Amino acid sequence: MGDRDFYEVLGVAKDASPEEIKKAYRKLAVKFHPDKNPGDNEAEEKFKELGQAYEALSDADKRAAYDRYGHQAFAGGGGGGGGYGGFGGFHDPMDLFSQVFGGAFGGGFEEFFGGGRRQQSNKQRGSDLRYDLEISLEEAATGVEKELEIEHYNSCETCSASGSKSGGGSRPCSTCGGRGVVARQAGIFVQQSTCPECRGAGETVSDPCGDCSGEGRVQKPSRIKIRIPAGVEDGTRLRSSGNGDAGVRGGTAGDLYVFLEVAEHDVFERDSRDLFCRMPLPFSTAALGGELKVPTLDGQSSIKIPAGTQGGTLFRLRERGMPVLSSPKKGDLHVEVQVEVPTRLNSDQQDKLREFSESIGEHNSPMQESFVAKAKRFFDF
Ligand code: ZN
Repeated sequence: MGDRDFYEVLGVAKDASPEEIKKAYRKLAVKFHPDKNPGDNEAEEKFKELGQAYEALSDADKRAAYDRYGHQAFAGGGGGGGGYGGFGGFHDPMDLFSQVFGGAFGGGFEEFFGGGRRQQSNKQRGSDLRYDLEISLEEAATGVEKELEIEHYNSCETCSASGSKSGGGSRPCSTCGGRGVVARQAGIFVQQSTCPECRGAGETVSDPCGDCSGEGRVQKPSRIKIRIPAGVEDGTRLRSSGNGDAGVRGGTAGDLYVFLEVAEHDVFERDSRDLFCRMPLPFSTAALGGELKVPTLDGQSSIKIPAGTQGGTLFRLRERGMPVLSSPKKGDLHVEVQVEVPTRLNSDQQDKLREFSESIGEHNSPMQESFVAKAKRFFDF
């Protein structure tokens, strides 16, 4: 993938509207289309780059990811059974082009270039699917591999996704003449809509496969493994490339989007990369100082409590928080101590505490002193 900024590639501002982005793509894609520039490698590269830029910026989710992570949002991953790597790779720029132009011009781009390339309309891309998955905070911290069971369209094995019993029996749709769209007069306008007969495919199968009724795909469950990287947050979306619905008659499969929900933890609260927890601290330890064992996501640690620690004091354990997605950095763990007053004292203990109270007098309580200084006028000391 090129490193050029996608906004720059399309020549639009960072806050361009979806319409502006589409308009820019349409203009440039026609200019650099390989059919118009045969043998021109540079144009072909430009066309590919345009496709990627448009794909990234025309989808609100992808655009948000790109704004945040740059090209990294689309790098890596995508391996085999659905790895993670932001949004994984890009679609075929030709498919994208026909999608964008097919929608408005029906017959596809042959109208633009005076024939030549025939649109691959027999194949339709499968739908993207959404799967909501809850994981624990620990899993979000370490990363985890999950196996999802999803109900979706899979390629029909009987007809090898062709939709045809004999494997080759498709013919141009008679209703739309192979164009995939039908035109109808509506007042002074000619309105085009998807052909109801072939559902936009442009072809019908003359000997439909019995298992998939000619669609080339059947609904059935699959088990899909996804790898969740360490550091994901509540609301993170992962893309499992090609694991959505299979396309019609061998068309490109859609993608599976996994929306993550990180469950609340009973000990830790998360704020992005940092973790917080409240720990009870015995009042004797608060007064005398000592050590306090604290839980961490990967076990435990301890903090040194200085003598005279007040309730509400925050202690920071560096790099014991959450990992940061695709970064070696880690957040911190903040521990707030809550000084605990014992509730069941026997008479001996009560006596000792009274004795202690008398011995300490009035002048060894810094908070009390500063409060009294401020609030003197309310009291009759
Ligand atoms: Zn079939």
